[in-house]
Amino acid sequence: MKINTAEFVISNSDPTKCPPPKKPEYAFIGRSNVGKSSLINMLTGRNSLAKTSGRPGKTQLINHFIINNNWFLVDLPGYGYAKVSKTEREKWGTMIDTYLTTRPNLICTFVLVDARIDPQPIDLEFMAKLGEKGLPFVIVFTKTEKLSKTALDKQLTQYRQTMLETWEDVPQIFITSAVSGAGRDEILSFIQSLNQE
Ligand code: GDP
Repeated sequence: MKINTAEFVISNSDPTKCPPPKKPEYAFIGRSNVGKSSLINMLTGRNSLAKTSGRPGKTQLINHFIINNNWFLVDLPGYGYAKVSKTEREKWGTMIDTYLTTRPNLICTFVLVDARIDPQPIDLEFMAKLGEKGLPFVIVFTKTEKLSKTALDKQLTQYRQTMLETWEDVPQIFITSAVSGAGRDEILSFIQSLNQE
């Protein structure tokens, strides 16, 4: 898919005020600092569409972008930033739960994980939450250019094994790097194929 236009639509802390769910929507989420903004910018080919966070955990907003006037890309607030208070965490939980249950147009959620780090309970818990709600998701390995092919294969195997402890099937895993652009074509083709269904 060629990206012709990528425009910011709205930022929200109130999921009910997100744009009308009239176009297919794809959400991106992960632990703060996982490389979400960098990935969104890499995918859209816009250097500063999503703000790379100098202050992780500060922006607890749902950001909608419209791509090619045809589908929504949603930048969801990250989780797992240690310095966030319990109240903030609870607010995040309520906001995300409301978002996830009020977007009938949400086609797929991309759960980003740092390829260098072993499977983390917080990521697995988030995936379990998606599973409970019957929401499709895929996994995106970020920062993969930092790993050798052998190390990357090892992480992939480990992730798949961990997933099989609780899931019948392993979700699709995309190998990406915002530095090298790896995974861009694969993710955009994946979205395009879902848009055509
Ligand atoms: P966010 O908090 O998840 O939005 O993460 P950012 O996109 O702001 O990235 C967090 C840090 O990881 C920044 O220092 C980025 O430069 C770095 N980063 C993001 N993607 C990559 C990548 O693909 N490779 C490498 N080496 N660093 C990355």
